Amino acid sequence: MSDVTPPEPIYVTRPHLPPLAEVTRLLEGVWERRILTNGGPLHQQLEEELAAYLGVEHLALVANGTLALLIALKALRLQGEVITTPFSFVATSEALSWNGLEPVFADIDPHTYGLDPASIEACITPRTTAILPVHCYGFPCDVEAIQRIADDYNLKVIYDAAHAFGVECHCGSLLQHGDLSVLSFHATKVFNTFEGGAIICPDAKTKKRIDRLKNFGFVDEVTVAANGINAKMSELHAAVGLAQLPGIDAAIAERQRVAEAYRDQLTDLPGLLLPEFGQAQRANYAYFPVRITDQAPLDRDQLVERLRAEGIVPRRYFHPLIPEFQYYRSNASADPKRYPVAAQMGREVLCLPIYPELSSADLQRICRAVRAAITGSSPDQP
Ligand SMILES: *Cc1c(COP(=O)(O)O)cnc(C)c1O
Repeated sequence: MSDVTPPEPIYVTRPHLPPLAEVTRLLEGVWERRILTNGGPLHQQLEEELAAYLGVEHLALVANGTLALLIALKALRLQGEVITTPFSFVATSEALSWNGLEPVFADIDPHTYGLDPASIEACITPRTTAILPVHCYGFPCDVEAIQRIADDYNLKVIYDAAHAFGVECHCGSLLQHGDLSVLSFHATKVFNTFEGGAIICPDAKTKKRIDRLKNFGFVDEVTVAANGINAKMSELHAAVGLAQLPGIDAAIAERQRVAEAYRDQLTDLPGLLLPEFGQAQRANYAYFPVRITDQAPLDRDQLVERLRAEGIVPRRYFHPLIPEFQYYRSNASADPKRYPVAAQMGREVLCLPIYPELSSADLQRICRAVRAAITGSSPDQP
């Protein structure tokens, strides 16, 4: 009976693009110089501008976040077991496996979604050499408790900060914690260079080591001193990054607008828990994870079905959990009894669409559909 065209689907995210004219202007310089990669001038400029924006001293650009993780782990010359989270994107564990390190899955905290310090401590063995936590959704981990454990047991800490661009805790940039932090600039992240990533380094010496590792281990034309890889960011990607940076504060402010609208409109729904955004001084609103608990009249997967029927495509980050993937099932710590909180969150969390250009009309559509699914009312009613 309906002769109106169905509305466009609303996805969990929509990549943020810089003004094309600005990218083109930067690319004209590339065409003149014919320097396309290998630490060209745009790459150098983006490293400097990002370090200044993020409030860190040393930063090495990398071709993507996964290679950034691989190199960060390599740079610390780790062996044996590394304690990490089952509640993340699979690349977190894959970076360990590629380095011949064994992921040991610990449990998470239900408020921060980051590793639970008590669970980390329970997982330590004589073979443990490091901890690889994730600032999940950009919510800060309990960085102080994690550092205390690392100090007590002489462990390295590498933060997967793929979600945490621009997040500040009480002491400034969240990225300063741990031995190294790793960012992703993938299309779906808060700050994107289409593909890209970075490693935050504590000092110039570490940055030098990382700069060599990302360029085949070359020290100079005739010297290879480490088992390096090619993980350099090209001038094209750096141009996109330079064009993105001036707009990033406005983009994060738009994300905040969306988060606050959800907060206003999704209150008082039985069994729907809203995110707490951790103890961030400055959040980045990268995701809007809600929990559908057993107090709700339908479960998370039923809500997904209902929303999809309305053309709304949220994502179940993170389901399946990493140890549930076939490749990790044989891992000695891949037992959900070891991480009951992560297992519960894997069943309950749903990330609602959030991105700078999400219109008020689309927001209303999402909130009406969520409300209708939970209260049983019709989504057409305003
Ligand atoms: C996106 C992401 C990565 C991987 O980053 P890429 O740039 O896509 O390689 C790693 N860890 C987490 C938690 C991520 O969300």
